[in-house]
Amino acid sequence: VAAPQTGLLKNLNPEQYAAVTAPAEPALILAGAGSGKTRVLTTRIAWLLQTGQVSPGGVMAVTFTNKAAKEMITRLTTMLPVNVRGMWIGTFHGLCNRFLRAHWKLAGLPQGFQILDASDTVSAIKRVIKAMKLDEERYVPKQVSWFIAGAKEDGQRPGDIEAWDEQTKTQVAIYQAYEDQCAREGVVDFAELMLRSYELLRDNLALRQHYQQRFRHILVDEFQDTNKLQYAWLKMFAPPGNAGGSGQSVLAVGDDDQSIYAFRGARVGNMADFEREYRVRNVIKLEQNYRSFGNILDAANELISRNSKRLGKTLRTEAGPGEPVRVYEQASDFAEAQWLIEEAQALHRGGIARAEIAVLYRSNAQSRVIESALFNAGIPYRVYGGLRFFERKEVKDALAYLRLIENPHDDTSFLRVVNFPARGIGARTIELLQDAARSSGRSLYQSVGAVAGAAGAKLAGFANLVDSTRNLTQGLNLRKIIEEVLETSGLNEFYRNDKDGAERLENLGELINAAEAFVTQEGFGRDAVALPVDELSPGTLSDGRAEGLPAAVAQAAVTPDAETGEIISPLAAFLTHAALEAGDNQAQAGQDAIQLMTVHSAKGLEFDAVFITGLEEGLFPHENSLSDSDGLEEERRLMYVAITRARQRLYLSFCQTRMLHGQTRYNIKSRFFDELPESALKWLTPKNQGFGSGYAKEYQDAWSRGSGLKSMVGAGNRPAWNSNPQKAAWVEPPVPAAMVKKVDDEHGGLRVGKGVFHTKFGEGVLVTLEGKGQDARAQVNFGRHGLKWLALSVAKLTPID
Ligand code: ATP
Ligand code: MG
Repeated sequence: VAAPQTGLLKNLNPEQYAAVTAPAEPALILAGAGSGKTRVLTTRIAWLLQTGQVSPGGVMAVTFTNKAAKEMITRLTTMLPVNVRGMWIGTFHGLCNRFLRAHWKLAGLPQGFQILDASDTVSAIKRVIKAMKLDEERYVPKQVSWFIAGAKEDGQRPGDIEAWDEQTKTQVAIYQAYEDQCAREGVVDFAELMLRSYELLRDNLALRQHYQQRFRHILVDEFQDTNKLQYAWLKMFAPPGNAGGSGQSVLAVGDDDQSIYAFRGARVGNMADFEREYRVRNVIKLEQNYRSFGNILDAANELISRNSKRLGKTLRTEAGPGEPVRVYEQASDFAEAQWLIEEAQALHRGGIARAEIAVLYRSNAQSRVIESALFNAGIPYRVYGGLRFFERKEVKDALAYLRLIENPHDDTSFLRVVNFPARGIGARTIELLQDAARSSGRSLYQSVGAVAGAAGAKLAGFANLVDSTRNLTQGLNLRKIIEEVLETSGLNEFYRNDKDGAERLENLGELINAAEAFVTQEGFGRDAVALPVDELSPGTLSDGRAEGLPAAVAQAAVTPDAETGEIISPLAAFLTHAALEAGDNQAQAGQDAIQLMTVHSAKGLEFDAVFITGLEEGLFPHENSLSDSDGLEEERRLMYVAITRARQRLYLSFCQTRMLHGQTRYNIKSRFFDELPESALKWLTPKNQGFGSGYAKEYQDAWSRGSGLKSMVGAGNRPAWNSNPQKAAWVEPPVPAAMVKKVDDEHGGLRVGKGVFHTKFGEGVLVTLEGKGQDARAQVNFGRHGLKWLALSVAKLTPID
């Protein structure tokens, strides 16, 4: 088939063209990174709409991250003017939330049900464990939360789990008690969103048939990372026998080399199952990469060829080799951050938008150093994932008050703020309250009357506060509601009086901004939150079909606000948004900002320039993966994902020392460097130097001349905080006498308790000296940069008097 040169289908290659215009039957696209899978998927939606084969209400498209869903919506709206609201485009969780908001009654949920994020879930489980008087050391709340999420993702309720040993039996009992607690409080966790929707569809024939009628086209991106439950959920919407036969079409798109969620239950085998169960007649392959230049692609191809478990694909580009992949070794994570900022600034001056520059890391903990360096340099940046804005303490406190207004039976929120700001309600009172609630099976809010005396009066005061705030905020817009809550709760006052409260107050102000942005820019709930009434009522289906949902189901399912027709309030929608969405507030909305994210959250995205940082053994590949070959293969796929995000420029960096989880680590460079084609790389620092691999002679000399890295790579790498070491603005802490050890003078005049100067960290006080020769280490307090262990064979420490 020749690709036409006009309209939507312009610029598609023949394979892509065939995929976009394929007949309405099950299809699988299996192709490598950057070959246009997502573009084909999006273009197909646009083409189906444009040619009138489907109306927006008949399309469901699932992607993996909120960012990817947004991008898909943006791409679609640029292709054709279409009302995206009627379409179901979103993440699995987002779509399940939308579904349950519409059918809360059938699903057995309260209308304003709240979503627990990961940390809420752990603290809710912790309460259960406590109430059951179990040992938290043996039943670690976080591990139990994995157990429960794992069970749910396998479609298992407590009664479905076969438990033989004591440990498992108890975990199942905790799962059961946790479910009861969630039901009482009207809350659901992430896994519950999926499982609850799945079960509702499974058990309700009328509803299932309605949706099967409704969705004519279901498209799933990143199919290789679906888990068992997600696949089962999809089959509820489009059962294999049905698809094709009755005109329903399912398009699954994936790349086995980019399967990176096995650790969370993803089953790459779903692709083979899909092909078999849906009797896919031809698997579409796309072999041309349109994203990256040759050197980048060579690096990716060579690396992934080391994996043994592959379906096997080819990927080529016509773009020419482009620039080499730049490799850089750094002395420390601080130096790495400083270097990449300078490099990114240079790229930006050269005309690359900041939003087209991504800094990727394997683990969230790595972002802190990079963030603070960017912050200090005054460069706008945005972090995806990680410690999200909505997870900060003060923000969570404010959200807890807001949630109590919506649903006072939310015990998690109740406990969070009942005595914050302090109201003289002690731990003993709370225990009494919890006992009363447990024995009567009611919520904490409902049980305040059960506690007698002064303590009871204080609790009643808190319940009154919740009630009066609800009354006060009735009918206000979202901004006003939040402002009111921040005042009446006492949160604003608390932080105004707190000497370190300024930043927290700022974040609370930012919460108001986030709410405003949510209402105005997002049109509140575009991401599968608010549901227009017409969507489910018979006769007003957005595609104009009168049949569909049986009246009984429709009535039970939808009880919109009589006045506005909205299913849920903006506040409820915003609270959902806060739980589901990574709130990235570090840069103003719309501001051109450098993008920071883990490799996992970069899946599916692309940038002009990409920095992959922390390429060190134990970090990337991660130490937890090194014990088995499956783990290592998954790390390699992760590295493949990282490399293939880059269009024009790719940087790889690693550091000799890194501060991680409060410890200084001494690193050797990642094994992945040995798996990349030398011809595609350009080493900006000499190869084969580095701690543990022996320094190149010239490099050692440079260090011993006292000029370090700087003299090797030219100026421009000098960290800003070194520029005037004489002006260290911190007070030297006294060194306890017990720590002052006697040491011989083999360490070049270094003395415990005396000052030292380090080329990266500036001035510090030597706290400990130990070991000899190659193993000699020093612990130095660098004040602003904290306490660090340094290898004296690497770190150049000069004594100062
Ligand atoms: P990943 O596996 O990383 O998700 P993908 O296969 O989904 O990648 P896309 O993101 O759809 O790839 O496409 C990669 C880039 O190539 C995009 O910028 C896209 O617009 C561009 N592209 C795809 N097909 C063509 C084409 N035929 N002509 C020009 N550009 C194309
Ligand atoms: Mg894609």
